[in-house]
Amino acid sequence: MTTAAPIRLGISSCLLGQTVRFDGGHKRDGFLSDTFGRFVEWVPVCPEVEAGFGTPREAMRLLNDDGRLRLVTTRGAVDLTDTMVRFARGRVERLDQERLCGYVLKKDSPSCGMARVKVYDKNNVPARTGQGLFATALRARYPFLPIEEEGRLVDPRIRDNFVERVFAYRRVMDLFAVPGRSARWCTSTPPTS
Ligand code: SF4
Repeated sequence: MTTAAPIRLGISSCLLGQTVRFDGGHKRDGFLSDTFGRFVEWVPVCPEVEAGFGTPREAMRLLNDDGRLRLVTTRGAVDLTDTMVRFARGRVERLDQERLCGYVLKKDSPSCGMARVKVYDKNNVPARTGQGLFATALRARYPFLPIEEEGRLVDPRIRDNFVERVFAYRRVMDLFAVPGRSARWCTSTPPTS
């Protein structure tokens, strides 16, 4: 009898209690670590640490620079956009080997936030219209991957829906794991023919 491979999900490292935040802290989520974590295998990623920004580091935020979204440090206004974009593209490409069935992102982060991340204008006025730069690369590379934020998963309906999508995604991956069938459509843009 063969044992089914574990369901693997990507996750923002700080949600598992890893001390990777800008202030050296974490944002451990009890439900994800202790409950959901019993049924899945996490693949943690901290884009800001892996991109080489270090811990602790200066906090950063998204800036609307005449319509261009920039990732800048809050005090020194160091522009980290190009470094993060380059890193994110390469990192999400390498995630292809992890056979992920879903991803849980840290809300409000200028790197990981999935939606409603604050974007500041030149007058320092924030609008909740942004998406973290790593999250943007992730969603572009895997448009069908179930992705949620930990903040939304406190809602039982959203949580149940996410779990269902993860298991459905896994079933499709298993289906296309048959030799000769391509699963490329479930990790990237669907084929046109
Ligand atoms: S939100 Fe993302 S970038 Fe920020 S500490 Fe957590 S994993 Fe790292």
